[in-house]
Amino acid sequence: MTFSLKDKIYLSAPHMGGAEQTYIQEAFDTNWISTVGPQINAFEERLSHYTKAKYVAALASGTSAIHLALNILGVGQGDTVITQSFTFAASAFPITYLGANPIFIDSEEDTWNMDPKVLEKTLEQINLTNQQLPKAIIPVHLYGMPAKMDEIKEVASKYNIPIIEDAAEALGTIYQHQRCGSIGDMGILSFNGNKIITTSGGGALLSDNVENIEKAEFLATQARDNAPHYEHTQIGYNYRLGNINAAIGLGQMEILDERVKRKREIFDFYKNELAEIAEITFQPELTSSFSNRWLTTILTGSFEKREVIRLALEKENIESRPLWKPMHLQPVFAEAQYFGGTVSEDLFNRGLCLPSGTAMTDSELTRIMQIIKSQF
Ligand SMILES: *Cc1c(COP(=O)(O)O)cnc(C)c1O
Repeated sequence: MTFSLKDKIYLSAPHMGGAEQTYIQEAFDTNWISTVGPQINAFEERLSHYTKAKYVAALASGTSAIHLALNILGVGQGDTVITQSFTFAASAFPITYLGANPIFIDSEEDTWNMDPKVLEKTLEQINLTNQQLPKAIIPVHLYGMPAKMDEIKEVASKYNIPIIEDAAEALGTIYQHQRCGSIGDMGILSFNGNKIITTSGGGALLSDNVENIEKAEFLATQARDNAPHYEHTQIGYNYRLGNINAAIGLGQMEILDERVKRKREIFDFYKNELAEIAEITFQPELTSSFSNRWLTTILTGSFEKREVIRLALEKENIESRPLWKPMHLQPVFAEAQYFGGTVSEDLFNRGLCLPSGTAMTDSELTRIMQIIKSQF
């Protein structure tokens, strides 16, 4: 079977910086091949230094990081956890791993993320009707754009509910002078293959509270008590990041800021080139926010137009993708509670993610642009 990946333009392909192989070689040379080793520790330190989160645990995925964060907060059978409906399913799936139920909140037009006003009304209603309050709130910084964390934190603190920040798509993003992932009580990152940097697969849990991170590391390594034999008083998981993956991450951290710069250039290119088409709009960026612009996303005038553009790109072997389908519209969450209107549904119907890979050439970008423009 032949495999021609050359001509296809992907949404966001991995993009190595060059130093990754040096770090991998170091790990091989010293035989740190498994889930312990100096590269893991160094990667955690780099992430902590970069985000200013005091403590970091490198984990197998962003999904496992959310699972552990919920676990640490004591989420269990019959509890509820609030998250935004407009997100990737991995924001919500771990809630169900613990037997808890997600409550989905609509987005707002300013950021496309969790609407703080809907969140406030939802909690007011839950409180007034004497239902049990949610155990956690998971806002998401979608496509790298920060949610309105100040407003969300204010509402959350009124009811004393901890925040797990899903910053899987937002490493490198700044909100009010703070790095996303370090703003909530805990934050999670993802280093999956299509994220702004990758470790092949991986994730991290961030917190300023050392106990949270110690607990995460304990749970992530099969909850082994301190004994010469294997002694367990709790259920554990196998969620630690591999040392070789961490080595890739060390190389990727060296060029993270370059990647953010290039992602923003790609966004500016699309925005300037498409300015003449009034029908097309972009994900807004608040003045106090600096998005990593992980994916450039557009809104078209209609579902039909969105599909015309998507199919025209597909015909040319160019990947684009509708925005995330809201969780409250997913068959698997048909029974889940939902609060809000139709903002996220409308974004899904009319929105498209455009190829945003940092390894794309200018001529590839121009080709994409010509195809889009020719649909108008
Ligand atoms: C990618 C992603 C995750 C999950 O990360 P993995 O490392 O793939 O498990 C969670 N939330 C959002 C918003 C994501 O985009």
